[in-house]
Amino acid sequence: MGRVVKRVGACLAAALVVAGLMAWPPEGEYSSVDLQLTVPEKEKLLALTFDDGPHPEHTAVLLDALAQRGVKATFFLVGCQVELAPELVERMAAEGHQIGIHTLDHVQVNGLSQRDFERQVEGLRRVLYPLVGERELWLRPPYGIMDDNTLRWADSPVVLWSVDPEDWKDTDVRRIVRHITDRVRDGDIVLLHDIYPSSVEAALQVVDCLQEQGWQFVTVEQLLHLKGRAGENGRVYRAVR
Ligand SMILES: [Zn+2]
Repeated sequence: MGRVVKRVGACLAAALVVAGLMAWPPEGEYSSVDLQLTVPEKEKLLALTFDDGPHPEHTAVLLDALAQRGVKATFFLVGCQVELAPELVERMAAEGHQIGIHTLDHVQVNGLSQRDFERQVEGLRRVLYPLVGERELWLRPPYGIMDDNTLRWADSPVVLWSVDPEDWKDTDVRRIVRHITDRVRDGDIVLLHDIYPSSVEAALQVVDCLQEQGWQFVTVEQLLHLKGRAGENGRVYRAVR
């Protein structure tokens, strides 16, 4: 019991450092890059990213559990899912998570005309702005597939990943957890999908396991900031070392 209380206390302290300094910005002036983060342990940083949501049920469970653990994550949203649970998108923003674009219709963006690309990417930004305020919404192309035009037209950094447990393949929570915990290195970006309950459960087990070892979970934008890097438009980020 004592150990658990201590761990929760430590997590809470870390969360306060991150969240406390991240005063909710005035509308339209969001920039977590301005944060003066003083996370004590800068060598064990991870960014959990969740694609294809929000899911009305599983994402809500995930947000509750992340809040309990003082964890910030990054969500790459799909337009049709946003329509199902816009209140969860508002909640993500209010709770300090990073929100990104995974296209309106979860389409492969390589080979698209500029008009179709903008419909998929800018179109989703326009759906999200009323929910989260005008802010930078970085791009993760579906399947990680892109071309030169994607980088040219993204108008944001492009976020891929360095750890992929292929959580869509099965519902084996233990396999997914082990895939991640066996591989993680400082600065990794982990790919998960919050539309699967097994992925949500695995993510939480990963958090519980790695927080015990001093790992801290931040958004991709915070990860870049903590590593002294700025997110550049049209540049691809798989991990931030
Ligand atoms: Zn996807």
